Amino acid sequence: MKYIDILEKKLNRKATLAEKEAFTVMWSEHCGYSHTKKYIKSLPLISLESGNAGLVSLNEDYVLSFKIESHNHPSAIEPYNGAATGVGGIIRDILAMGARPTAILDSLHMHKVIDGIIEGIADYGNSIGVPTVGGELRINDAYRYNPLVNVMAVGIVKHKDIVPSKATRPDQVIVIFGGATGRDGIHGASFASEDLTGKRANKLSIQVGDPFSEKMLIEAFLKMLEEGLIEGAQDLGAGGVLSATSELVAKGGFGAVIDLEKLPLREPDMKPIEILISESQERMAIITSQEKVKKVLKIAEEHLLYGAVVGKVTNDGIYHVRYKGETILKVPASLLSEAPEEEIVDFSVDSIPKDISLKFKNVDASEVYMQYDYMVGTNTVLPPGFGPAVMRVKETSLFYSLLTHSRADIGEKSPYWGSYIAVLESVRKTLSVGGEPLGITDCINYGDPDVDPVGLAAMMKGLKDACEFSGIGVASGNASLYNTNNGIPIPATMVIGMVGRVEKVIKPKMGDLYLIGWNDFELEREKILWKEIKNQVLKGNFVISSTRFDKITYLKNLKLKLPPLNHSPIHQLILVIGKDVKSNLPLKKLTP
Ligand code: ADP
Ligand code: MG
Ligand code: MG
Ligand code: MG
Ligand code: MG
Repeated sequence: MKYIDILEKKLNRKATLAEKEAFTVMWSEHCGYSHTKKYIKSLPLISLESGNAGLVSLNEDYVLSFKIESHNHPSAIEPYNGAATGVGGIIRDILAMGARPTAILDSLHMHKVIDGIIEGIADYGNSIGVPTVGGELRINDAYRYNPLVNVMAVGIVKHKDIVPSKATRPDQVIVIFGGATGRDGIHGASFASEDLTGKRANKLSIQVGDPFSEKMLIEAFLKMLEEGLIEGAQDLGAGGVLSATSELVAKGGFGAVIDLEKLPLREPDMKPIEILISESQERMAIITSQEKVKKVLKIAEEHLLYGAVVGKVTNDGIYHVRYKGETILKVPASLLSEAPEEEIVDFSVDSIPKDISLKFKNVDASEVYMQYDYMVGTNTVLPPGFGPAVMRVKETSLFYSLLTHSRADIGEKSPYWGSYIAVLESVRKTLSVGGEPLGITDCINYGDPDVDPVGLAAMMKGLKDACEFSGIGVASGNASLYNTNNGIPIPATMVIGMVGRVEKVIKPKMGDLYLIGWNDFELEREKILWKEIKNQVLKGNFVISSTRFDKITYLKNLKLKLPPLNHSPIHQLILVIGKDVKSNLPLKKLTP
């Protein structure tokens, strides 16, 4: 265990075997954020509440809940289940905030289209009835051993229904409901924090998905919420019962007594520590009151789910785990959830790379998104293929845009500008569909921070500076480090998820094709371009913002042929479709 010395110093004694197991999980990079926490704290954070997912207001009634999650390591070993459980996991984060999940997006970096990954996402999303409305597909050999599978989920919650991710009173009880607990995913969190070279890769660490249980879990949870039975919640993800229950109480400044024998098991001979850290999927932990327990368990049962009171919230700040009365673990709850923080390094801004050597293969993303059900629920207003998706809030006239976007080709040369330009381009894309950006969820995909701490610093500073430049905050995010194989890292890949409020939906239309803007990039011009996008949208023209216009399937469908465009890989150009389009910026008519 990496931080054993720090742990034993804090405990003021030798750690027990169970403590070593528990802290290996909780102080893993995946759960503990040792290398990224200080950087994340320095970002302009805007979530209405800190918790399992970010929250931004859509209007006085409705709130968007959204977050991105990585499932890189599991997907490398077991593409189908790794990707499927990536979807399941992020859906539960959205749900934990009280939101009904409404949409999924992915961001895929791989050396070729890996069918198992696409099928895993498609099958899971399709079977829980949540549309997969967009994403990105980036093919390059740099991701051969470390494919990046990032999944973003969005959901809708009313202000009054927001669920805190913590206990709020010492007399509350903790209920876990969902699927039964098995051995799957044991040590998943620590596995996700390691180099992926052959011998470490362990199939036992891969969780298996069960979308039917997930669908029941969503409906059961929302029913409990509707009946006023949920006072706090957290999904069970990395670190299982241990992470979910200890974080719930630690965040509220409380402790807990957990009785592990209460958990329904799929494998009866599991050791107590295995029950505690199993990452079996499709489970939720909720905080409720004693008098509400009966109703909670009844709803779980009606949805064919297991449910049990596994513990209670205590006043003493001690996280006490027992198995049939015997103490397994007894430590301060705050110690578990406060992993050691590595010092951060300074980074002075470099200049924008002139040439880019990493080239993504030109692939047709429609081959991928046609496998996704992007219409289920019938609230998808702008489907995949145009850039950001636009969704309607069910039974209202509220709309929001959502996208994922990254520039690892720039990040490979300059992690700072890779993050920075990804944010700027996300803003352009959001504006293009008539959206006003509301917030960002970021996924840090990086190599080894111990080998190259400066790259991580650069990547985080790029995000911070771009947010400040744009006036857009970060509502949630995720970090996946140690994406290396035999010591070789992936390019610094900052994936941006962005949501926006859309006042007026713009439908794609026929017309002439114009190119507006500049072939290269100068930061001082960026806001002029944003203003121009808004102008064009206001005039009713259809605007497309893209890194590579030759990849836009929509143009092919409209039989609009694009002449070769000799712009640099970092440009400030938009395509505009309309009749008699005018602009004060450099403009070129592309169709006769
Ligand atoms: P969970 O275990 O619920 O999936 P995580 O452990 O991934 O959540 O994240 C813990 C908290 O830290 C969440 O509130 C998440 O939004 C926030 N967070 C993690 N990484 C980032 C990031 N890169 N930027 C902003 N917030 C982040
Ligand atoms: Mg976590
Ligand atoms: Mg969570
Ligand atoms: Mg999660
Ligand atoms: Mg996470």
